[in-house]
Amino acid sequence: MWRNWVGNQSFTPDREAVPRDEEEVAALVREASERGLTVRVAGAGHSFTPIVETDGLLLDLSELSGVVEADPRRKRATALAGTPIRGFYEPLWRDGLALKNQGDIDTQQIAGAVATATHGSGIRNTCFSGVVRGVQLVTATGEIRDIGESEPELLRAAQVSIGMLGVMTRLELEVTDGYRLSEQIGLWPWEAVLERWDELVHDHRHFGFFWLPTEESAALYNLHSDDQTMADKCYVKIYDEPGPDQPDSATPGRRTDRCYRIYPMVYDPNFHELEYFVPLERGPDALRAMRELMLRSLPSSVYPLEVRTVGPDDAYLSPNYKTATTVISVSGKPGTDYWGYLRSVDALLRDFSARVHWGKLHFLDPERLHALYPEADAFIRLRRELDPAGVFLNAHLAELFA
Ligand SMILES: Cc1cc2nc3c(=O)[nH]c(=O)nc-3n(C[C@H](O)[C@H](O)[C@H](O)COP(=O)(O)OP(=O)(O)OC[C@H]3O[C@@H](n4cnc5c(N)ncnc54)[C@H](O)[C@@H]3O)c2cc1C
Repeated sequence: MWRNWVGNQSFTPDREAVPRDEEEVAALVREASERGLTVRVAGAGHSFTPIVETDGLLLDLSELSGVVEADPRRKRATALAGTPIRGFYEPLWRDGLALKNQGDIDTQQIAGAVATATHGSGIRNTCFSGVVRGVQLVTATGEIRDIGESEPELLRAAQVSIGMLGVMTRLELEVTDGYRLSEQIGLWPWEAVLERWDELVHDHRHFGFFWLPTEESAALYNLHSDDQTMADKCYVKIYDEPGPDQPDSATPGRRTDRCYRIYPMVYDPNFHELEYFVPLERGPDALRAMRELMLRSLPSSVYPLEVRTVGPDDAYLSPNYKTATTVISVSGKPGTDYWGYLRSVDALLRDFSARVHWGKLHFLDPERLHALYPEADAFIRLRRELDPAGVFLNAHLAELFA
């Protein structure tokens, strides 16, 4: 039985395979297709939604791992699809390069992160999907296709595909010169954050915070502070590039180091998360409404409210499609009935035209999909062209994209 990292999704596929190269992937997909089986790929299993599930063939691409090419002149890197985010660090740094941005953890496989538009923080950078410049894809017939910038429509569909166009076997990413980051971490009053919102969003490379509804909230996400009281405070994280004369530092909350040593946090598998994206400028109003709702919803709403921003891109199913966003995340406690609370979050953020994180719990239906994602039809048209029999669909995805 396959289980995701947090344990809220599990299923038993008809068969599993661990291919070693794209030819083997192609042969496996072709055979499954001919037998009428569906096919899905499991990345590192860090999604909370049933987007890996299949009763057919489940592929594990962990053998297809590694950065195969890095070009400092063109600022491009090509990696196999099963490469974990942390597998980019040293190979890129050796060539004077780094990933442009990344999120809270680095254990996801690059194809899994790209498939769901995984993001970090900062409006000057996009999510992972926004830096994808090429995808090698094994389609439903077992054909190996290289999709690049010469096929912009297909590329924009493949950038955020939740595995529905085929099996990604390698990806070309735009990367950047290696850079260091200096962190400033502090516990701030709620109003202080909202008063300085514009400056925090626009004047820093990265800005994000966790609002802590109760004294117990911080510990649930392993957040620490020397402050006496943490309830109703914001655990603020600001990262900027230091000047060349500023030395590295290991002082907690004031570290300066290579970018990839600053980004990752440590989470325990103790939360079931929902994350929605509202247009950037509507962020402060949405956040005020969320704070009120969460205070009213305690103890269900005990997990921190995580807030980040992301820059726009033009991938068809991206939550940041042609708009920078304020990203709002909340969690329910495993083993409790948190659904009423999450439904009230959904109802509130629906009024802010919120798009969803494909890897996190959500309540999107076809009507909202088409209202919120202007290119949903274009994606579905290409999906049907590439996979008319729905080899790469499952019940959860078919409801929205069949
Ligand atoms: C502790 C934790 C922290 C997180 N932090 C962040 C964060 O900071 N920012 C953020 O945006 N998200 C975050 N997430 C969500 C996570 O990044 C996404 O759910 C991501 O998709 C997980 O990647 P994965 O490798 O585990 O993929 P999986 O969850 O295994 O798969 C995701 C999707 O990708 C598809 N897929 C995987 N590989 C391929 C392939 N080769 N070809 C085609 N399809 C493929 C799968 O079928 C599935 O549909 C976090 C999740 C957890 C549990």
